[in-house]
Amino acid sequence: MTVVILLGPPGAGKGTQAARIAQRLSIPAISTGDIFRANMAEGTEIGKQAKAYMDRGEFVPDSVTNTMVRARLAAPDTADGFLLDGYPRSVEQAHTLRDMLLDLGRQIDVVVEIQVDEDEVVARMLKRAQEQHRSDDTEPVMRRRLEVYRQQTEPVATYYVDQDLLEAVDGKGTIDEVTARINTVLDSVARR
Ligand code: AMP
Repeated sequence: MTVVILLGPPGAGKGTQAARIAQRLSIPAISTGDIFRANMAEGTEIGKQAKAYMDRGEFVPDSVTNTMVRARLAAPDTADGFLLDGYPRSVEQAHTLRDMLLDLGRQIDVVVEIQVDEDEVVARMLKRAQEQHRSDDTEPVMRRRLEVYRQQTEPVATYYVDQDLLEAVDGKGTIDEVTARINTVLDSVARR
């Protein structure tokens, strides 16, 4: 199994679980949010373009995001596969990803959706705000990110349900408990 997509609302613990899945499958975890933050820290052109959107909890325009993902997927470390965290975030991006994968001669093996209810997500984001001082972890921006998630990203889950690729995982409980649920899903997909 090589191509894994991780879905879930902001604050669901995607980044933490992405790192664990990637290590288990020996593939890179590619997080569009992390790439944007690295670009902002380095003051690159992409970073400058992304910052205003990220600080408001809005999506960075597809023209920037899709180009960046396409370039990242062309890097040699993706030869044995990759995990995507934070992409696709809209049905339009899912269509673009489908075209990119066609060009690369690859297909998605599984989409794992971490399901967490909204109160829990807000509590986790507030905790992360204290720990990491992310500029987009303030309460109004968090609410906007959740709203955008509901409007734009939840339809992506439906899109993958229709393709029989989606596996939902309960995001409640400890990090290890969620990892164990994800591992059960990955094992069952590997046996298909
Ligand atoms: P994340 O770290 O995944 O929560 O992403 C942080 C922010 O980066 C988001 O709120 C967006 O502003 C931006 N971002 C990350 N991934 C995408 C994407 N696929 N499309 C558009 N914007 C994105």
